[in-house]
Order: sequence, then C-alpha cells, then structure tokens
Amino acid sequence: MEEAKVLSTLKEYFGYDKFRPLQQKIINSVFEGRDNLVIMPTGGGKSICYQLPAILLPQVTLVISPLIALMKDQVDGLTANGVPAAYLNSSQAVADQEAIFQKIEKNELKLLYVAPESLQVIDRFLSDGLVSLIAIDEAHCISNWGHDFRPAYTQLGYLKNRFPSTPMIALTATADKATRTDILKQLNIPKAEKHIASFDRKNLSLEVRPGIKRFEQIANFVGQRKNESGIIYCLSRKTTEELAAKLKAKSFKAEAYHAGLSHDERIRIQDDFINDHSHIICATIAFGMGIDKSNIRWVIHYNMPKNMEGYYQEIGRAGRDGLPSDTLLFHSYADVVQLQKFASNAANEEVQLAKLDRMKQYSEALSCRRKILLNYFGELKQEDCGNCDICKNPPKFFNGTTIAQKALSCIYRLKGAEPITTVIDVLRGSHNEAVLSRNYQNLKTYAVGSDISWHNWQQYIIQLINLGYVEIAFHKKNHLQLTPLAKNVLFEGEKVQLANVPDRKAIQEQAEKK
Ligand code: ADP
Ligand code: ZN
Repeated sequence: MEEAKVLSTLKEYFGYDKFRPLQQKIINSVFEGRDNLVIMPTGGGKSICYQLPAILLPQVTLVISPLIALMKDQVDGLTANGVPAAYLNSSQAVADQEAIFQKIEKNELKLLYVAPESLQVIDRFLSDGLVSLIAIDEAHCISNWGHDFRPAYTQLGYLKNRFPSTPMIALTATADKATRTDILKQLNIPKAEKHIASFDRKNLSLEVRPGIKRFEQIANFVGQRKNESGIIYCLSRKTTEELAAKLKAKSFKAEAYHAGLSHDERIRIQDDFINDHSHIICATIAFGMGIDKSNIRWVIHYNMPKNMEGYYQEIGRAGRDGLPSDTLLFHSYADVVQLQKFASNAANEEVQLAKLDRMKQYSEALSCRRKILLNYFGELKQEDCGNCDICKNPPKFFNGTTIAQKALSCIYRLKGAEPITTVIDVLRGSHNEAVLSRNYQNLKTYAVGSDISWHNWQQYIIQLINLGYVEIAFHKKNHLQLTPLAKNVLFEGEKVQLANVPDRKAIQEQAEKK
C-alpha cells in the first residue's frame, strides 16, 4: 500500500497528521498479509492498527471483541466518520443478521464487529475469500494465563483453519510473556510478527503506603487535590459506598460506582464524572473500561489489586493527557489474605496465586517500583525512575541479624502453627487471649521484642518472608513457617541486612506538603 494513501486516510477518517510509534509499522505488516500480535497499553492507539487497514482493504474486516457495549461505541464512532461498520450479536433478529451479510456480499461494509459467542453465525455466511482481515481485540481473554480469561474466546483458534489465507491481528493491552506465547499458540498464528510498545508512563508517580488509617490518609490526599478528578478502587461494593458516604460527609464531591447499580444510575455517575460535576469515584473494577477522560489526576487503590495487569490498567486511567498524575496503593496484609482466599477457589488457582504473589512483591519492594512494573511486562530498564516512593526515599539497610534471630526463633518455638499476628504478639509480650490461652507467655522468646512497634515488626517479618527465611502456609490458616534457609541464620551465623522501616508519617506529611 502506498504511504501517501495511508497517510491521507489517517487524516481523512481519523483527523491525525502522523502515526504514533509502531502504528505505521504494524499497518504495513498487515498490508503485507502477515499475522501480527500487538501489545500496547490502554490508550496507546491500537484501534487504528486494524481500522485504517480495514478502510483500504478490498473486503470486510472481522473484529472480535468481548464487550457488546464497547462494540456499539466503536461502530457508532466509525459510522459517524463515514466508515461503513456494523456489529453482530446473539440478541439480533435473524433478518437483521441476514441484511448485514447481504451488505458484505455487495462489499458495502468495511468492518463487522462480532462477539465470540456469535461465531456460528459468521460460519454460516462467510467464506475465506470474503474476508480481508480478522482482528482479535482484547486477545488476552483467550489465555488461561491472562487475567481476564473468557471461555468463549477459546473457540477463536478455529478461525485460522476456517480462514487460512486471511491475515490476523491480535491486540491486547496486557500480556506478560506467558500469556503472549499462549495467545499465538491458541490462535494458531505461531509466526505472527510481535509489536510491543513501551509500557512506561513516566508522568504517573508510583507510591505504596501501609493500609493503616486509610480513610484519614485519603481525606488528607484528596484535601490537597481539591477540584482534581480521581478514582478510588475498592475490592467490594460495600467499601465503595461507605467510602463515598464518608467523603461526602466531608463535603467532597464523591460517588460510588459498581455493577450493582442500575444502568441509568451508572450512566449518570459516569457522565457527571466526565463532565467534572463530581470529582471522586469510589469504584469497583467495573469502572473505567471504555471511559475516555484524559484529565484524571490521580488513582488510589484502597485495596490491593489481584495482579499487576489489573493494577497497571487501573493506574493507567490517570494522566492520559500526559500531565503529572499521582497513584497511591494501600498495601495491607489482610487484603492479601482475602485475595488469596478468592484465588484458591478459582479454576486456575495456581496461576492466580502466582500473579498475586508478584503483586505482593511489588508492594513490598525495596527497589525502584517502576523497574519492577516494567520488568513484569518484559521491558527491562537500567535506570531508576526517580518518580516512585522508593526512588524518592530510598530505604537504608542495617545489620538486622538480631531482629531476624528473634523472629525466626519465635516462629520456631510456636512450631510454625501461628499466623503473623500471634507471632508479633508473642514477640512484643502481649497479654491478649491468643497468647495467654495457649501459655505462650512461658516461651523463651516471649517479649524479647517489646522495644519494637507492632507495625515495624510486621514490616521486618515481611522482609524476612521476601528474603526467603519464612513462608506463609496459605493452606494452613496462613501460619508462618520457617524455610530451610532459616537455620543458616539461627545456627550458622548468617548475617541479615534489613531495610529501615521508613517513618511513614513523616514521609506522608512531606509528600502532602508539596
Ligand atoms: P487503545 O485501543 O490502545 O486503548 P485507542 O485506539 O482507543 O487506544 O486510542 C486512544 C486514543 O488515542 C484515541 O482517542 C485515539 O483517537 C487516539 N489516537 C490514536 N492514534 C493516534 C495518532 N496517530 N495521533 C493522535 N491520536 C491518536
Ligand atoms: Zn523509581
């Protein structure tokens, strides 16, 4: 395809003068008839990669897309720009479906959006020669390794057999290495050319804080950002409502949003937010898909997300206009335990637990968070970012051998049969029920750590877990247990470097002042 023609189409139908990085390369590869895999963050400009070729290719382009609501928006948008497009779904009358296929036969349609559930319909009407290109949107849904597996997507593997000479383009915003490989395998496009855009969003600051006194911290945070738009993601519907009510009581313009609200109510809340009539949305992850608001200035995670993909996608809703925006994640041990419970009931338990573990490591990191985040998406960075809490306040290490010995020996004496809370209570010499009812006050390690605060003990033990001396037995009531490495510290003189637990209060106050 001539470059001039491609550029004039970009201008005519989309109103842009130039391509973003990768778009042109991808489009050329599509015109050359190759299969392609596109990995680009949300908002990166994936749609043009198949919509523009669709306009110039001789026959129709099929677009497989998981969400009917998004499908409709896309079709409306294209039609408004003079591109003949339609969508098929199972709720349509057969006559309407037939009308669509007649248009395709007369070559009057450029794009046809289809839900994976409606593939059988296509099968009846279409043959290889009638289709120029097949685009698979949200391609990660095909993989068990992805974070949003949809069983209906697994049928898509058959498209390549059914339309062998039609090039395919698979697109997703979120795919780690395992998912990427799986997408190619499942779609039967092993030789697809891979295009991976940078996931680095330098304008987003990254910060993690312990999830204590969360409401006070949030009230403080939003108080410093009056009239700026932001989203607070919560795990449960109940939390979204409670949080919104508490913020309203402090006269912030906040609303709760979750899938339990009526359709009309959700539309109203979205519109108010988009038009700046409200500033804060307390939402479950139901909020945000397909929302195009470029000036969201901050995103808070009240609870920890299930995995890095979700986290990245959610913080990515901030700062689409490229201006500096802040993200804040609250890390709480209780959340981790809760998410572990959810994951252990899931069909692909192992994958979900592994993904959660990566999320936890990120939250507990002692080195540049952006490096960890980008590394997760396969992008290796040499330099620290300078725009995360660790870069701004790097931890200082000290000889923590004695602290480690106290904790490890306490866990040993508790026979690996108590959760972190009781371990800390014993170390601190607490008189509570959990301790006294089992006579733990008679243990040798009772109260050997009463000089260290509860919070600091928690942080040190988390470090010991991350260093591999201790593990959490998730299938045994989250009891802390020693690993074989622990004996090196207890009996063989191994030294342990621990990071200073930062004075969180001071850091917060400093951060809020700027
Ligand atoms: P994605 O599907 O990757 O989330 P979209 O395709 O919806 O992203 O594009 C995100 C935004 O970027 C849209 O508003 C789109 O019009 C815009 N966009 C895409 N390509 C370009 C370009 N070459 N120049 C300017 N804006 C673009
Ligand atoms: Zn950093």
